[in-house]
Amino acid sequence: MKEIEHRSVIIIGAGPGGSSAAKRLAEQGVDVLVLERREIVGNPAQCGECIPNWGEVVGTFSGIDDDEWLIELFDFPDRLRSHRLDNMRVFLPSGKFYSFELDAFGGHRLQFDGYLAELANQSGAEIRVGEALKNIITKKDGTDLLVTDKGRYSADYIIDASGALAHVSRLKHKDSSRYRPREQVPTIYAQVQGPVPESFDVFIGNIAPSGYAWIIPKGEIANVGLGVRAGKLPGDLKPHLQKFCDEMGFEILSWGGGWIPMSGPVEKMVEGNILAIGDAAGLVMPSNGGGISQAMISGKFAADAIVDNIESGTPLELYQKRVMKSMGRALKNSKRAKWLAYTFLRNDWLSELMMRILGPIGGIRRAMSCDRTLWLF
Ligand SMILES: Cc1cc2nc3c(=O)[nH]c(=O)nc-3n(C[C@H](O)[C@H](O)[C@H](O)COP(=O)(O)OP(=O)(O)OC[C@H]3O[C@@H](n4cnc5c(N)ncnc54)[C@H](O)[C@@H]3O)c2cc1C
Repeated sequence: MKEIEHRSVIIIGAGPGGSSAAKRLAEQGVDVLVLERREIVGNPAQCGECIPNWGEVVGTFSGIDDDEWLIELFDFPDRLRSHRLDNMRVFLPSGKFYSFELDAFGGHRLQFDGYLAELANQSGAEIRVGEALKNIITKKDGTDLLVTDKGRYSADYIIDASGALAHVSRLKHKDSSRYRPREQVPTIYAQVQGPVPESFDVFIGNIAPSGYAWIIPKGEIANVGLGVRAGKLPGDLKPHLQKFCDEMGFEILSWGGGWIPMSGPVEKMVEGNILAIGDAAGLVMPSNGGGISQAMISGKFAADAIVDNIESGTPLELYQKRVMKSMGRALKNSKRAKWLAYTFLRNDWLSELMMRILGPIGGIRRAMSCDRTLWLF
């Protein structure tokens, strides 16, 4: 049996959250190892691939306006930007649409995740790909032994950056809803070519009951997908998306899919020496499924909490407080908007009615940007 390898910090997952945390830790001189089960970071992508610019991020979350480190992290090179997304259009079943400004771009997650992992690596973090966490054995002294398909590890701190299914929490706590995102929304998407629009287009009604269909342009091609509350469309999602693509005149080049945790932040993001970040902490916007920026920001916050704990014994629990102080309001508004969507976007006529009321008063824009959809709600 292989010897146990001990590291200061072990991060499970090299998504945007894991790589951001690793970069931050390595820059502060902390020994950090990232274990990533994929052979190639970011492959296969599981995303609509709308990546927010700093302007969008700083307008949504609090207390980060003057965070030079985050500003630099979000200053992505032009080669990652396949298509500017300055505009979002929300289409009602009748074909009428409401349009508002956006500050984002369509890109390729394979390149994006690879870029962030490269930054972490250049800062001194070690990233091992093709190695999956399989088990956690909690020893008599309370410490955890991480068992992968290639080795055994112990660590002073563990970061769960494993995404929607929160594998560290799953292995530690099974299905406890205190530590893991509860509601997971199934999604399917396709890379397509054809009459690709200029804007990020969203479609509601029968096409995606209690959810939405999207077209996110990435230059010559687009990412077209469907996110629907579990069980609301009969059978497999694939034929539904195929039909949508046919109607739009798109030729499908490849398929993808994944789960989006839509229940909001988990109750406990910190347990002992384990910190959950990004999707594993349930930090996705429940109304629109966006989670890249929250993963990166929470990765930085978790790294800071670990450094503060090493240097001055500051409790790790402050990490969760900082996350909620920055993202709590937007996540709460977004969760409310999700319940409105679940109630009113169930079919064509209810969706049309609701949007005709919300559209003219700016409610759709506010729901999408995680402000209060209605002034009181
Ligand atoms: C279909 C779809 C469309 C989306 N569209 C958008 C969008 O357009 N814009 C947006 O902002 N967000 C979008 N999201 C959400 C976004 O993808 C996530 O919020 C974001 O990727 C979260 O980053 P993360 O680092 O927390 O987790 P992830 O990006 O999920 O990274 C987790 C990493 O952990 C690895 N891993 C998992 N288990 C193990 C294990 N046992 N051992 C080792 N490694 C492991 C995985 O391979 C993966 O690389 C979408 C999600 C889906 C599913």
